[in-house]
Amino acid sequence: MSELTHPLIIDGWFREISDEYFPGQGFMLKVEKILYCSKSKFQDILVFKSTNFGNVLVLDGIIQVTERDEFAYQEMISHIPLFAHPNPERVLVIGGGDGGVLREIIKHDNVKEAILVEIDDMVIQLSKKYLPNMSKSYENEKVKVVLDDGFKYLKEIHDKDDMKFDVIITDSSDPEGPAEAFFQQGYFNLLNNALNKDGIVISMASENIWLNLNNLKNLKNVCENIFPIVKTCYCTIPSYTSGQISLMVCGKNKEIDITKANREVKGEFKYYNSKIHEASFILPTWADEMLNN
Ligand code: SAM
Repeated sequence: MSELTHPLIIDGWFREISDEYFPGQGFMLKVEKILYCSKSKFQDILVFKSTNFGNVLVLDGIIQVTERDEFAYQEMISHIPLFAHPNPERVLVIGGGDGGVLREIIKHDNVKEAILVEIDDMVIQLSKKYLPNMSKSYENEKVKVVLDDGFKYLKEIHDKDDMKFDVIITDSSDPEGPAEAFFQQGYFNLLNNALNKDGIVISMASENIWLNLNNLKNLKNVCENIFPIVKTCYCTIPSYTSGQISLMVCGKNKEIDITKANREVKGEFKYYNSKIHEASFILPTWADEMLNN
């Protein structure tokens, strides 16, 4: 073991425990070595090498990405809106400092520009050091990085007609901490304003059907007040609690069916394909009844 220590690592095991998000349960990963731990201006940051999930990034005690399974989430949150959109040229990412979502966005030839607005430069720098397969996307010429609060950035571009996007992806951390505003109505109003007429947004809902169905329903209601099309899909991913994470997808144009790929799916993907795009919107009976009725 390294000399670094962290209060959430006990007897060589990292413990993800949150009474608010997942009361009465937790998730543990065996730690081989702590690579970095400190507090940035915005959050507590921990990076460790795990025994069988590769390097792991943790913010404020919650796992953000592991090298082993990150592709599932990054591919789904990126390719669902990008293949649903008929011609995504301008894409905005809010958060996403590890670079994995950018890596997926630049696989699309249609995309001319991808802007990433990340509040914490420390996350970007640590990803460049410890998560190279995600952060390699920062080298791409289509990518522009803005170091700022995503909410503030959206307010600043509010009246700028040349700052509209075809797809906006919210790849944020959880509601407690710097990402709190991303789960409220004001944020979705700003997203709506920043979209072109066929625009699609997708947001990490920070919830899953096994744990927080009521919160998911509340977030869906908020989105339905704003967008004509609102759908919930999900991906499976072992390192997010309960192995599943929900994504909220909202569209501006009723004519565009966001539950399917509307362009030919080509490119190299490990999780995403056109069948899983459609299947990910089909929920188990109890969750479907609760969320969609
Ligand atoms: N995929 C991950 C998940 O589901 O937990 C999220 C990964 S990404 C590392 C989340 C990023 O959102 C972090 O780097 C964090 O710094 C950033 N973030 C949090 N609040 C933000 C804000 N207000 N503006 C911009 N970025 C923010």
